[in-house]
Amino acid sequence: MADFEVPELKETLEVPKYVEGTMAHSAPYIAKPQFQEPLGYPGELVENWQQVALDKMSDLKSRYRSFQVYLDACVKCGACTDKCHYYIGTADPKNMPVARQDLLRKVYRRYFTFAGKYFPKLVGAVDLTKEVLDDWYTYFHQCSQCRRCSVYCPYGIDTAEISMAAREIMDSVGIGQKYCNEIMGKVFIIGNNLGLPQRALEDTLEGLEEEVEEDTGVAVKFPLDQKGAEILLVTPSADFFAEPHVDGLIGYAKVFHEAGASWTMSSYASEAGNFGMFIGSYENMQKIALRIRKAAIDLGVKRIVFGECGHAWRVAYAFLNTLAGPFDFLDPRYPVPQHICEYTYDLIQQNKLKFDKSENDHMTLTFHDSCNVARATRMGDKPGGQFDIPRAVIKAACNNYVDMPVDTIGEATFCCGGGGGLLTDDLMEIRVKGALPRAQALKTVTDEGGVTHMAAICAICKSQFTKVLPYYGFSMDQIVSVHQLVSDAIILTGAPSEDDSDEDDKDNSDEE
Ligand code: SF4
Ligand code: SF4
Repeated sequence: MADFEVPELKETLEVPKYVEGTMAHSAPYIAKPQFQEPLGYPGELVENWQQVALDKMSDLKSRYRSFQVYLDACVKCGACTDKCHYYIGTADPKNMPVARQDLLRKVYRRYFTFAGKYFPKLVGAVDLTKEVLDDWYTYFHQCSQCRRCSVYCPYGIDTAEISMAAREIMDSVGIGQKYCNEIMGKVFIIGNNLGLPQRALEDTLEGLEEEVEEDTGVAVKFPLDQKGAEILLVTPSADFFAEPHVDGLIGYAKVFHEAGASWTMSSYASEAGNFGMFIGSYENMQKIALRIRKAAIDLGVKRIVFGECGHAWRVAYAFLNTLAGPFDFLDPRYPVPQHICEYTYDLIQQNKLKFDKSENDHMTLTFHDSCNVARATRMGDKPGGQFDIPRAVIKAACNNYVDMPVDTIGEATFCCGGGGGLLTDDLMEIRVKGALPRAQALKTVTDEGGVTHMAAICAICKSQFTKVLPYYGFSMDQIVSVHQLVSDAIILTGAPSEDDSDEDDKDNSDEE
């Protein structure tokens, strides 16, 4: 099945002894000039690339205080060394978070610190050579920017930030990653990562309406570009066609239907994902985020709700206001933005949704906390809401639920192995190996708790698990969307009129 050795699942997760260079051969395809240039980067490696790279490093150092602090503060305590799923899965020492950081830190020291300039050998500083640049390209594309290592670092050093900075430096010299940069080009031209044009989107949504009506006898709508709707749903484009994503979209539509909500999607902002974050580009991240603002203004909505997508929720929760705010034209009684799990959870709390949980009795569920949701966002108004709310939604729709071992969920969750812009076939080996800790945890609850399915609220996690779980002896349909579970169990009763429901929403807004 694979042209590389797939790690074996054991009784418990083992941290390997390091073996130099096991993943030195792995690097993603480089973006062609036609995908580099629209993002504002040179088409190929520029002649004076060392100087351009150092200028960019200097620029990042002055723009982001955290970048310099992270490069200065490491004391080499080693607490992060065994915390990265890519190290655990590959044994390559350059996949230890501290070693990954050091690839950049050594160059930073050489050019930006007194000791590095005059006594480079004493402080491990190195010149920026082509070999160093190649190493950056290889190993900063073996980091999913999951931030697990930062949880264990006594100084809170965030390797994800360093990895984003490294990718931005590489882009600035003309060495961008094909997968991420091509996808951003599609968003700028068409509106979404998959390059689905408006007509295809309309057809898909019409097809879903027919399918749900045939299935349930209820006319659940999937509105697109509906001016004057109250809610704009921004969701990952994977939700428009692929399983299990589309089953989640059907779930959102059923929830909106039951709430009697007036809602719409936008063909202009038909993508929740924002790969600008993966390549560390504030400018490109902002360009994508501004599409959501424009769609919200053009459609005249009062609320923005995000569908199931991990990094999209991070960009939305943590950066949307800075990138594209102020959102003072939205209804201030609701969070800006809101996650679909928060939306559904609030309705559950208000007893506005009814479920027949037995519809999901053929499954025993567990939940995969997605990295960006777990370690970079929150949901609801209580600490830990990002862990509790999705679980509460699952438990409202399912009778059988078992959590994976505590050191693999919540804040300590392990990445799916495909995040951070690595969800591409040219990185399949690192994706499979990086999924080892999650697969091991899934095996534990399969063996001990009878778990049959794993739910997630991230489009990347779902796509990644669909592809990599079979390497570990699971089947691809064992990964499900949280709102797929909602969709299967929700009892459709027909909706109140929109006017009534608007009033209901306002009456209940204080509880949200
Ligand atoms: S951010 Fe995640 S992928 Fe990157 S080094 Fe840390 S643990 Fe590994
Ligand atoms: S845990 Fe933090 S301080 Fe310790 S080696 Fe890792 S990055 Fe450096």
